[in-house]
Amino acid sequence: MTSPAIKAERLQQRLEAFSHIGATPAGGVNRQALSPEDREARRLLAELAQARGFQVFQDAMANLFIRRSGRDDSLPPLLIGSHLDSQPTGGRFDGALGTLSAFEVLEALEDARLETPGPIEVVAWTNEEGSRFAPGVMGSMAFAGAADPAQWQSLAGSDGASFSGELAATLAALPEAALRPLGTPLSGYIELHIEQGPSLEKEGLAIGVVTGVQGTRWLKVTVTGEAGHAGTTPLPYRRDPMVAAVGMMHQLQASVMPSDADARLTVGRIATIPGSVNAIPKAVTFSLDLRHPLAARLDAIEGEVRTICRVEGEKQGCSVEISMAFDMPPGVFAPGMIDTIEAAAGRLSLPSKKMVSGAFHDALFLARVAPTAMIFVPCRDGISHNEAEHVEPASIRDGARLLLEATIAVADILAKGA
Ligand SMILES: [Zn+2]
Repeated sequence: MTSPAIKAERLQQRLEAFSHIGATPAGGVNRQALSPEDREARRLLAELAQARGFQVFQDAMANLFIRRSGRDDSLPPLLIGSHLDSQPTGGRFDGALGTLSAFEVLEALEDARLETPGPIEVVAWTNEEGSRFAPGVMGSMAFAGAADPAQWQSLAGSDGASFSGELAATLAALPEAALRPLGTPLSGYIELHIEQGPSLEKEGLAIGVVTGVQGTRWLKVTVTGEAGHAGTTPLPYRRDPMVAAVGMMHQLQASVMPSDADARLTVGRIATIPGSVNAIPKAVTFSLDLRHPLAARLDAIEGEVRTICRVEGEKQGCSVEISMAFDMPPGVFAPGMIDTIEAAAGRLSLPSKKMVSGAFHDALFLARVAPTAMIFVPCRDGISHNEAEHVEPASIRDGARLLLEATIAVADILAKGA
């Protein structure tokens, strides 16, 4: 028996082959969830799997699983993977890199005839992106029991397509994949993904060992004053909600992020009522996107937002109403998994750092049902959700080597604990 090794050329060829499915003229991919292109990618992965003698399964959400048996096949599998769907003008690595690197790990284990203690499964989660059918991370959310898929039955896509119709067609397109229940037990989950941000590349690091996914909270702030004529209302007679809103935004920008390097605050949307060029508005609404890795800090920032908005509103004689539009708590990955991945990176002499993910990933929900962690590799200029997305061949190789090393190490540790 030889020790298992990643074949970098094989992985490159696979990435190339999948990048042709839904290829766009600008070099990206349009392979949106449950589309004919998505089905073609699933078919290719299933065929590659069957050619190696791996079993193929899918569940009611069309999450796709490729299984390589272990010594004791009654143990719950260790899952590795990501997603195959893309943004409408997406890159060829977002999702595909993690899924195909995981498949390369399975092939490397098979090449070396290495028997793992329990089964290892590659997973491709359904509709991570959420661009065609909202919300995103649907497949993993339903798998983890965090959402009931029945609520999406009558959902229509951005192109008018029926979610349930497209889901049924996708399931039917892979009749050889045995159907199994949603949310089958697993022993752990490791997801490799591109960073989708600039920090690893800027710091010259090969690997990000991801400790969690930051929480996100969307607030809608409505400031109400008094409408008036722009020309005839002198300053002392104005109750202008725009002046109050500007004061709020200024105070928030000056305080939240400068005082906490892990905090994110973004105002992405502003609207006025009536929205007339020559009228003092009656009301101004604006959105707040707040993010932080710690739930307690997210609560504290929301408290700060409420105080600042109240004070600035009062200064202008305006009333303020704040409602929550979305609340996703932070995901915290398993310390044991994080340490194992970090140690594996050390054994491979890959410079790494621990970091929090700024974006959502399927791992966010998997962390609720099994020990979970993620591996990030750098992407050029941090560009993602963009056809120009690019990952250097050396980073592809480094990531896959680490995924293999970490998979073997985690599988052994899990077996000892079982
Ligand atoms: Zn992704």
